[in-house]
Amino acid sequence: MDTKKGKGLNSGVLLAFVLFLLAALWLTNLFEEGENEVTRRQFERLLKEKRVEDIVITQNKTVPTGKVEFITPEDEGDRLLCMYVSDVNEIQRYLDEKKTDYTMPDIQQDSWFVTTILPVLLVAGMLMFLFFFMNRQNSGAGTKAMSFGKSRARLSTDSDKRITFAQVAGLQEEKEELEEIVDFLKAPKKYIQVGARIPKGVLLVGPPGTGKTLLAKAVAGEAGVPFFTISGSDFVEMFVGVGASRVRDLFEEAKKSAPCIIFIDEIDAVARRRGTGMGGGHDEREQTLNQLLVEMDGFGVNEGIIVMAATNRVDILDPAILRPGRFDRKVMVGRPDVKGREEILSVHAKGKPLSEEIDLRQIAQTTAGFTGADLENLLNEAAIIAAKEDRKFLKQEDIKKAFVKVGIGSEKKSRVISDKEKRITAFHEAGHAILFHVLPDVGPVYSVSIIPTGGAGGYTMPLPEKDEMFNTRGKMLQDITVALGGRVAEEEVFDDITTGASQDIKQATGLAKSMVTKFGMSEAIGLINYDDDGDEVFIGRDLAHAQRPYGENVASTIDREVKRIIDECYERAKGIIHKYDDVLRACADLLLEKEKITREEFEALFVNGAGEA
Ligand code: ADP
Ligand code: MG
Ligand code: ZN
Repeated sequence: MDTKKGKGLNSGVLLAFVLFLLAALWLTNLFEEGENEVTRRQFERLLKEKRVEDIVITQNKTVPTGKVEFITPEDEGDRLLCMYVSDVNEIQRYLDEKKTDYTMPDIQQDSWFVTTILPVLLVAGMLMFLFFFMNRQNSGAGTKAMSFGKSRARLSTDSDKRITFAQVAGLQEEKEELEEIVDFLKAPKKYIQVGARIPKGVLLVGPPGTGKTLLAKAVAGEAGVPFFTISGSDFVEMFVGVGASRVRDLFEEAKKSAPCIIFIDEIDAVARRRGTGMGGGHDEREQTLNQLLVEMDGFGVNEGIIVMAATNRVDILDPAILRPGRFDRKVMVGRPDVKGREEILSVHAKGKPLSEEIDLRQIAQTTAGFTGADLENLLNEAAIIAAKEDRKFLKQEDIKKAFVKVGIGSEKKSRVISDKEKRITAFHEAGHAILFHVLPDVGPVYSVSIIPTGGAGGYTMPLPEKDEMFNTRGKMLQDITVALGGRVAEEEVFDDITTGASQDIKQATGLAKSMVTKFGMSEAIGLINYDDDGDEVFIGRDLAHAQRPYGENVASTIDREVKRIIDECYERAKGIIHKYDDVLRACADLLLEKEKITREEFEALFVNGAGEA
């Protein structure tokens, strides 16, 4: 609502209010005369005392209630009194009984004003009042009350608050991937001319606080296009059909201002795998999701709308959303490495005067696993501590205190990793990586990282496997060997071993067991399937284990065979790791320095003559 309308309304409301008041006054006037009212008891007494004259009974319209007016003579002169009765007939009978005269004129006709004008005025006043009230609510809190179905999208084009890639620190690869989208939004013609198909949807996937929202805003900022943003949870509200109509509305608005970006934050709230919803929200979400898919299919390939979405749970998304022509591009937004963290720190240190002693690099080194949001929070807490002490700059001490506060306060998000843990992880991952590289049928290594993610201390990622129909015995053995490589490397360097390899061991055991019981790859067992799990996961799976379809003899043979395979692979891993001991150390060092290394950096370690001894 614009302000002009608001003013008009104000005087209208005032008028309505005054009318209302007058009407109310007038109405109460009708029933006034309270002073001269007597009770039935008083009336009967007066009657007995013969002090009642000139009785006039008036019956109200349509109802038996009425009023009895009479005169009672007093010393100072006559006085007009009245009494209200609930049943006029009853009072008539009573008076007849007492042989008292009275007059009763015909039922009183209300004046034209009362019957016609007054109700109209009252209703009009009420309506105006109501209207004003709702309006107030509207302008007060965005667009509630009367616009449920409207999209809640906020359009941000303010050029002064524009976010650019410069404000997004680290995330170099991610920015490069999005550069193309920016270019398309800037100059769509260029792409359309050569018949290029630009992705319609880009899904940003990563843990909370890693800068997905920031990145999406920066894409819009870089391209200088309107940015419609809405959160998945905004769609999901109590009224069925609202979400769907919001989606429709959002796309309609966006089409008007193409080229532009629609950003759906936390898309998992609406695009959860269908059929797994709980309770009442289910239908509503499904409708919303369907509408979203319809809209995304509905606009042409190069209409200049790019739908970006963010989630930290890609695994729970409905697969329909990831189909070609929808969110066909995925950008993984990971936790920052040391360099990234230093850059993020310096972005957020702007506007916070730091004392000389503060070394951002050193802070970056001690914050493995922190996200951008965590780092921003860290500096902010430090600034608050400085402000509390009335200082105009931040000291190292403030950061330290903030570190404790943030690190302990958000245990689940990011725990502070000790140097020792980091070192162990580095060797562990280096062990996996070396085996991936050396063994012929696995790998090559795509990247190695010791940035803590969720539960894991780090990861070694091979290039995606080629789609091969059959797995070979040799490859399975190598997979087991790789899985054991982490533990083997830990043993090679440290006296003690950690619990960090439990997942690896589980994986290796599972593989070995399949080889024996499912794939007939063990001579001692032969070509017999003893796999009792089936491929389905069902509840009570462990119970099923208890009643295996084979005897103790077979069971112990299986166990022996599994152990044999694991032992052989373990020895093989040990031999290789030992042989490449210097690569292992070099790799771990590099990991400790950079936290994340690429394929090239990793392979360069082998070229330098290492390991060939
Ligand atoms: P997400 O959407 O991934 O949960 P946000 O984009 O909302 O994370 O990030 C929250 C805040 O953390 C941002 O507003 C910003 O202050 C800070 N932040 C996160 N990542 C970065 C980054 N790469 N560079 C600068 N600041 C960042
Ligand atoms: Mg976000
Ligand atoms: Zn491992």
